[in-house]
Amino acid sequence: MTRFAGRVAVVTGAGQGIGAATAHRLAEEGATVAVIDLTAERAQATVDALTAKGHAARAYGCDVADHDAVRQTFAQVVTDLGALHILVNNAGITRDNLFFKMPKGDWDAVIAVNLTSAYNCSQAAQTHMVKQKYGKIVSLSSRSALGNRGQANYAAAKAGIQGLTATLAIELGPYNINVNAVAPGYIATPMTVSTAERVGATAGDHQAQAADRTPLRRVGQPEEIASVVAFLASEDASYVSGQTLYVNGGAR
Ligand code: NAP
Repeated sequence: MTRFAGRVAVVTGAGQGIGAATAHRLAEEGATVAVIDLTAERAQATVDALTAKGHAARAYGCDVADHDAVRQTFAQVVTDLGALHILVNNAGITRDNLFFKMPKGDWDAVIAVNLTSAYNCSQAAQTHMVKQKYGKIVSLSSRSALGNRGQANYAAAKAGIQGLTATLAIELGPYNINVNAVAPGYIATPMTVSTAERVGATAGDHQAQAADRTPLRRVGQPEEIASVVAFLASEDASYVSGQTLYVNGGAR
């Protein structure tokens, strides 16, 4: 498939996990991918894997919670790659704790990296998308947006993504920009490995417990989120906007 031939895509937090899988999927379907991660070195690892397969990609180090850094990086992407058609707001962190003892710094960090980053990146991207009257913005929400013990900060940020998505779809729709979100359940990535470590479980046991709670009786893989992001970023979803699609193995 070459659904993204001639398209330039930015994927944030693409050094590993869902972001890296998404960068691969978009590149495999013809996109030139700007791979953003906290450091250029982390982004370069994904770019090296992509270029080894003959795909077009370039690495950028940028803290997506930093408004000015995002503006500069997105301007550089357009200078380097000639356009910006697709934005995937994927970078995210967790700092889990029960609410009564959640430090203010952990609240602020999670809101900044998971939600304010989407404001920063979407605002920087729409400047270019509005001019060209074409754009696709896909952001990572989470099943935790519906509430999850120990994740008040993360749940608030991921619910915020859904409100941001619905609103940007209204404001940017007249410029032929589709804005959607994906809300994964439990996906096997370094993020969930860290969660397992934090609660004193092995990754295997933690995943087995999550699988037991899931109708499909297994956890998800990064590629199973990447394929849905690619759908929403493609013309196959040309009349889909303002939606959050839960991708969680059937969990309610
Ligand atoms: P991950 O394995 O932890 O990868 C996240 C990536 O984002 C890392 O490469 C990380 O870089 C990067 N990053 C962190 N802070 C950043 C910043 N300020 N600026 C730029 N990059 C930054 O996470 P994942 O599991 O793939 O999750 C990807 C997205 O899906 C996140 O938004 C997450 O909340 C969401 N999600 C995940 C799951 C799941 O079960 N895995 C479920 C629902 C939603 P460093 O490693 O260098 O810090």
